[in-house]
Parts: sequence; structure tokens; C-alpha cells
Amino acid sequence: MAWRHKRFRYRLVVWRCLNCGAFHHYETSICRRCRSNRIAEELLPSRAKLVTFTAVKNPPAGFESQAPYVVGIVEFEDGTRLLAGITDCDYEELKPSMELERVVRKLTQDGESGLIIYGYKFRPPIKKH
Ligand SMILES: [Zn+2]
Repeated sequence: MAWRHKRFRYRLVVWRCLNCGAFHHYETSICRRCRSNRIAEELLPSRAKLVTFTAVKNPPAGFESQAPYVVGIVEFEDGTRLLAGITDCDYEELKPSMELERVVRKLTQDGESGLIIYGYKFRPPIKKH
């Protein structure tokens, strides 16, 4: 698979404003924060810090089979924050300001078409024994 297709499929691309640094998750030509048109496409950073998190026990339609699951606000090195799924860990393991790494995971499956939707989540780095 061509990288261009792969990164769109996994939603790893963000559009960053070169003027104020804001992330946009959908292609845009104008920054929603500062109205600049200096937008560059880039890869979502692979490391982030956990800011806050919560367990979702009553998920929206399509995510029922995954409940309960954890979502959190993660913060990148440049201070940009993002709401993302947290995976591969127990809720008790999570602590504010811990380091996380980005992984690609199945997000949901469309019941009618059987289409599996992938996207990024974050997890604590795997400990090396
Ligand atoms: Zn901007």
C-alpha cells in the first residue's frame, strides 16, 4: 500500500498551522484558531504526555462492544492537546503526566458493511524486561 494511502487510512495525518501551531484533524486551508492560510500537512507525533483521562461506560452507537474504554487528553511536546483513545493498559496503571506512545488500532466496525475503521490510540510504552 502506498504510504500516502496508508497514512490517510490510519488517520495519522494532521494539518498544522504554521502561524500559531494549532492542529486540525481534517484537511483545511484556513486555520480555525487564527485564520492563517499557512497550513502544512504532517504526521501526528508518536509521543505524548497524558494530561487527564476518564473511563467511558456508556459509549456512543457503534462503540458498545468496546465499553468500558478509556479516553484521555494527551499533550504533545509543543503543547498541542488532543482527545484520544487510551489502550493496552488497565485504568489503574494510568497517571497524569505519564509518557504515552501512538499505536494504530481498530476503532470500530460498521455493522452493516463490515468495514473496519482504524485509527490511532495512545498507550503506555511497553516495558522491556
Ligand atoms: Zn493558526
